[in-house]
Amino acid sequence: MKIALGALLFEGNTFSPVVTDRRDFASKYLFEGEAMLAGLAGSGTEIAGAAAAASATGADILPLIATHGGAGGRVAAACHAELKATLLHRLAAGGAVDGVCLALHGAFVAEGIDDVEGDLLAAVRGIAGRVPIVVSCDLHAHVTQDMLRLCDALIGYRTYPHDDAYETGERAMRLLLDIVAGRLHPIMRACRAPLLLPAQRQRTAGDGPMAGIVALARRLETGPVRAVSYFPVQPWMDFPAMGFTTVAVGETEAATAEAAERVTRAAWEARRAFQVAVHAPDAAIAAGLRQPGLAVLADAADCVGGGATGDSAGIAAWLRQHAPEAPAALHVVDAETVRQAQRHRPGARFRASLGNKLDPAYGTPVPLDVELVSLSDGRFRYAGGLMRGVEATTGPTAVLQSGALTIVAGSLSAYEYADEVFAANGVDVRTKKFVVVKNPMNYQPAYAGAAQYVLDTPGPTTPNLARLPWGRLDRPTYPIDPDCPPSFVRM
Ligand SMILES: [Zn+2]
Repeated sequence: MKIALGALLFEGNTFSPVVTDRRDFASKYLFEGEAMLAGLAGSGTEIAGAAAAASATGADILPLIATHGGAGGRVAAACHAELKATLLHRLAAGGAVDGVCLALHGAFVAEGIDDVEGDLLAAVRGIAGRVPIVVSCDLHAHVTQDMLRLCDALIGYRTYPHDDAYETGERAMRLLLDIVAGRLHPIMRACRAPLLLPAQRQRTAGDGPMAGIVALARRLETGPVRAVSYFPVQPWMDFPAMGFTTVAVGETEAATAEAAERVTRAAWEARRAFQVAVHAPDAAIAAGLRQPGLAVLADAADCVGGGATGDSAGIAAWLRQHAPEAPAALHVVDAETVRQAQRHRPGARFRASLGNKLDPAYGTPVPLDVELVSLSDGRFRYAGGLMRGVEATTGPTAVLQSGALTIVAGSLSAYEYADEVFAANGVDVRTKKFVVVKNPMNYQPAYAGAAQYVLDTPGPTTPNLARLPWGRLDRPTYPIDPDCPPSFVRM
């Protein structure tokens, strides 16, 4: 048996004006052909999990391409065309296969193409013919009718933070092998509600509203229903037909459709419990100062993992004004300041104009007198999450000190899991009063026990969804339209 295997992962954000290019993929992982199996061996990626599941049954792999571009604005047309062509060329050149297993984010957007996954699956179907195709997606996939129509089964990560990419790859490959062997004749049904949820309350562990949805999905995976996947959707995409979608894969029509609808209805019923309290930066800093130990300031509106640039430095100004004596750590994307730092030796002082250059829509650079502490090549290794074990880079990186504030300035953005970037640059955030994080979720377990504040700052990944300039989104959609009536679209 021969199975084609590939991964083309990227999370788009249509509110980010920055065009994502090949460098953004290469700075995480980008492997072609055989190199992808060796390059990702031992990692926590879908490819490693799927390859292990295939080899356990003796199936041969036709390796295509494996890459993750993180998240950002639309991918440049030329970059997308190259990645797609590589995958398709290797699929065509590899000869007949018995099945195709693809890890796709589900929210990949490129210049001129809103539904990259649907477009890719149509091309893959054109080459592979009627063989089974199984797709695994990120929990934040925007599942479209085309994606469902063009594959045989679609599943998603079960956890957020995403610590199960490897297991999701394993599950996708096992489903595919069952279909190829004739042990499963899948029916796929989906159900969508006009519901966008801020990410902060989507933690799948614990006792929040998402945990109840996860438990329901697991209970429904019984008898003829093989997989129930919930997709709260990456909420920062201005497209029609957005919403919370559940996809069920099963063997009987009625049970499969019912499972999809029950989970989406449960999400709708819980919608108010997903809303998140946000704090003005000065109020969060004042509250943090009153707490013992480390306090986390979550600048979630500048979430790299959600497609923002990571170049907002606004919190540096708030900290300087409201807590000038408090040791604090901030990671910011600012290649220009790094180039400036490279002209100096450690210990030298210079005037920096920090951040807010890539995406000037949400703030202006912060002028700061800084001392250069150290320079690095920005390499670090992910300790967990969907790139566990993968070596990535923030490009040339400088550690700068401005009063009590320690700044790690990198040249490239990087998806943030825990404190890897700080640690790789010799910054121990546990010795600080404040750490600024730029993600909506991963910091919650990473800094468990610390006081945590979600900031109400401007940016393309704001938890305050009504702040965004929506145009194409179907209206009404909750919570942008608080009185939105329920509706459940069967897909
Ligand atoms: Zn996600």
